[in-house]
Amino acid sequence: MVGIIGHGISYTLSPALHNAAFRALAMNWVYVPLRVKPEHVHAALRGLAALDFRGANVTVPHKVEAARLADELRGEAAVLGAANTLVVEDGRLVGHNTDPTGFQGLLREAGVDVTGVTVGLLGAGGAARSVVLALAREGARTVYVLNRTESRALELRERLKGVVASTEIRVGKLDKEGAKVLRDCQLVVNCTPLSGDEGEELPIDYSFLDEGKWVIDLKYGRRSALLRFAAQRGARVADGGGMLIHQAAASFALWTEKPAPLEVMREAYRKAVERGDMEAKR
Ligand code: NDP
Repeated sequence: MVGIIGHGISYTLSPALHNAAFRALAMNWVYVPLRVKPEHVHAALRGLAALDFRGANVTVPHKVEAARLADELRGEAAVLGAANTLVVEDGRLVGHNTDPTGFQGLLREAGVDVTGVTVGLLGAGGAARSVVLALAREGARTVYVLNRTESRALELRERLKGVVASTEIRVGKLDKEGAKVLRDCQLVVNCTPLSGDEGEELPIDYSFLDEGKWVIDLKYGRRSALLRFAAQRGARVADGGGMLIHQAAASFALWTEKPAPLEVMREAYRKAVERGDMEAKR
């Protein structure tokens, strides 16, 4: 047994990806969505070992709390102070974070080379932290982190500055004025839940998203209004599907100690999006 612990996660495609992988490898495993309210997260995490789970993914809003409650943090989870994957080892909870690996997988698959480039990041939440770490590992020169709450962007820089010494992290406000830096960025990554759909406009000048730029929106599923707009103006675009698949593959390997069947997961994702599973379950 493995699963995903989160709140408001009816849209998640993770069970489809993992269960398809288990079936393809004829493994007697199952991955279940576990809806957990913030006040119950401690009991839920402790219950994993009691219920003989091998582990779980953790998503909004529990990633930081999962890192706090884990008995041990390894690798990226320790650096980020957030865990998206827990593994039960001899009754102990070991926290990992496969989101940076997921974003690096997205970059590789989309063919985005960030060596020496300037990146504009919208948002400074959990996903943004993982993306900055991944960008630094891939050799980005400068990352502008723009956030509605500037103090959160400063916190991000504080946490990561020693770890990503070769990449300069600059912070600013996510508003029309602050977002003028996007003009000079070769890559723009949206790490907020706003994507220009349903009247939720990002407070940036969309005309900066044009030819010669890469624009990535971490949202997955149907292409967001932001990406449609950027593509129309000649930018190259990618959604967060690649990140979802690659972080899932890395979690799969941690639990099962086997390489994930990436093609099977990719196909399961494609079919779920085609069926409109996310929209249907919201
Ligand atoms: P968090 O809640 O940790 O952070 C949300 C961020 O969005 C914050 O920077 C927040 O700013 C900003 N934000 C939220 N609402 C608004 C608004 N109305 N106006 C301006 N800024 C806003 O979420 P995550 O970082 O975990 O997730 C962000 C997005 O990335 C989500 O859409 C999520 O689905 C996606 N994601 C995709 C993954 C994938 O595998 N493809 C993996 C992880 C996340 P403030 O600090 O001011 O509140």
